[in-house]
Amino acid sequence: MNDKQGTLIVISGFSGAGKGTLIKKLVEDHDNYALSVSMTTRDPRPGEVDGVHYHFSKDEDFERLIEEGGLIEYAGYCGHYYGTPKAFVEEKLAEGKDVILEIEIQGAQKVRRQFPQAVLLFVMPPSGEELYRRLTSRGTETDEVIRKRMWRAIDESEGMDTYDYIVVNDDLDTCVQEVNSIVRAAHMRPAQNRELVDQIRKDLKDILKNG
Ligand code: 5GP
Repeated sequence: MNDKQGTLIVISGFSGAGKGTLIKKLVEDHDNYALSVSMTTRDPRPGEVDGVHYHFSKDEDFERLIEEGGLIEYAGYCGHYYGTPKAFVEEKLAEGKDVILEIEIQGAQKVRRQFPQAVLLFVMPPSGEELYRRLTSRGTETDEVIRKRMWRAIDESEGMDTYDYIVVNDDLDTCVQEVNSIVRAAHMRPAQNRELVDQIRKDLKDILKNG
């Protein structure tokens, strides 16, 4: 068991920016990360597994969890609820894991208020054309849904100031390295090292007293 709390990492980005692929690689390549599985009321896409990609739920079950205070945050996105279950995040942070939340911008803002030490990253595609290409090549969404997601991206681009860093997902390996460097740097912030600082202060006082 690690004696240091992990860091909460929020990863947002336009739908189609490649957050999913980025996070998958980050978690596969580095064992300090734990990925939070969100709850949603949208239908599973082909290939999505309940409990792995999302906890898929009915509206009433989602609303019950809201009332019980079981979610760190939740938001409406394109007509559905999405939220972060609290228990997993608290448990993993206590184990010293860096917990990744892949959430949209309203949720990110709520996390920022509750966890001022969280690191907020926004993943950008290299260009608007590339985002459109990625959204259409996925082949899982209707034209109408794709258009909704593009309008949503335009809206979200107004809220960039909430975030600490913007990373461009052009080359995946480069992007993974960049995110990992940011998280490692976050571990070096004073608030993350209070115990070390306290210990050194105590050691120095002991030396002075005994010397
Ligand atoms: P998708 O339907 O493409 O899986 O996700 C749609 C959007 O919902 C994405 O921007 C994703 O980051 C966001 N999202 C997924 N889980 C959560 C969550 O737990 N809370 C919030 N606020 N947004 C989420």
